[in-house]
Amino acid sequence: MGKTDIGPPDFRNFLPPIIKKNYGKWKYHRILEPGVLVHVSETGKEVYTVRMGSGRLVTVDFIREVCDLADKYSDGYLRFTSRHNVEFLLTDKKKIAPLKKELAAKGWPIGGTGHSVTSIVHTQGWVHCHTPATDASGVVKSVMDELFEYFGSHKLPAQVRIALACCLNMCGAVHCSDIAILGVHTKLPKVDHETLRNVCEIPTTIAACPTGAIRPHPDKEKKSVIVNPERCMYCGNCYTMCPAMPLADGEGDGISIWVGGKVSNARHTPMFSRLAIPYLPNNPPRWPEVTSAIKNIVEVYAKHANKYERIGEWIERVGWERFFKLTGIEFTPLHIDDYKLSTTTFRNTTQFKWG
Ligand code: SF4
Ligand code: SF4
Repeated sequence: MGKTDIGPPDFRNFLPPIIKKNYGKWKYHRILEPGVLVHVSETGKEVYTVRMGSGRLVTVDFIREVCDLADKYSDGYLRFTSRHNVEFLLTDKKKIAPLKKELAAKGWPIGGTGHSVTSIVHTQGWVHCHTPATDASGVVKSVMDELFEYFGSHKLPAQVRIALACCLNMCGAVHCSDIAILGVHTKLPKVDHETLRNVCEIPTTIAACPTGAIRPHPDKEKKSVIVNPERCMYCGNCYTMCPAMPLADGEGDGISIWVGGKVSNARHTPMFSRLAIPYLPNNPPRWPEVTSAIKNIVEVYAKHANKYERIGEWIERVGWERFFKLTGIEFTPLHIDDYKLSTTTFRNTTQFKWG
C-alpha cells in the first residue's frame, strides 16, 4: 500500500504477528469462561483473548498501565473494542491466570463475553457535545454499576447489548440495541432573534429542519425565524446549524428507554429498538429512575426468556402487551407512533390486546 499522509495508517501494520500470519484462516472460537475466549486457526495456532471492561473516557495513566500489561502478557499488543473493552491477545495459555490475577488486583473487571451485559457503547454527553439532552458517561457508569453482576457472568438467556445516545441524532447504536437509553428534549428551541439575525443564515437554518417546522419570522424587519410547535420533534438539528436556537432545558430534558433491537442475523433478522419508556427525568449524579427501570427490564427478561432469545425475540414471541404487563411499564398514548414513515416498524394503532 502506498504511503500517504491522508487518513488513518494501514491497520495491517498494527496487527499482532499471530493475527497477521493467520489472517483469513480462523476456523472457530469458543468462550472458555466469562471474559476469556480462544480463537483457533486452521494452521492449529490458537490465540487467547482476555476481555476487560474499560471506561470510554480514560486517563493517560490508565493507557500506560494497560500498555505495560500488554508488554508483559500479550507480546506488546492489545486492542480497544468499539464497546470500550480492552482486549489482551495472548499466545501463551499459561499467561491467562497471572494476567487475570493482576487485573483483579487493580479492580479492573473481566467479562463482557457471551450471555452477559457487555460495556455500554455511548456518545459524548455533557462532556463534549452541544446538543445532549442527558449525560453519557455518568448515566452509563450508574447503569453498569447496577448491572455489574451480569458483566462477569453468563447468567442471562443471551447477550444484552445496551447503548446510549444523548440526543436523537443517535451517535450511539440505540436504534438496534437490546436496551437503548436515549436522551430526549421536550421543549421547543428558544429562538434568540437578536443573535440569530447576526450569526445565522436563515435559508440554511430553515433547511436544517427535517419536519419543516421553521419558517421566516412574519415580521420581515426581525430577519429571524419562528418554530411551529405542532411540527417540531425536538431533534436539535436547527441548533447544529444555528447557535441562536438552543433547545437544552433543565426541566424538559430527560431520557427515554427503547428495547428489542439487534444487529445480529442469528435466528431472526436484525430488529429496530422500540419505545418502552417515553420519558424519565435527568437525575444526576446517579440517575436512579433510569438505573432501576433498566435493571427491571433485564431481570424480567432473564426470568421469562428462553435460552438464546435476545430481548426483541422474546418480546416478539410473547407479544408487546405481555412485555408491558410483565415489566409493569405503563403503556401510554406516547407509545403510539404516528410518524408517517414508521408504519411498517412501529405500532400505529390503539387497537391492541392485553395478553
Ligand atoms: S447523540 Fe446527539 S448530543 Fe450525543 S454526541 Fe451525538 S449529536 Fe451530540
Ligand atoms: S428541533 Fe428539530 S424539528 Fe424542531 S425546529 Fe429544530 S430542526 Fe426542526
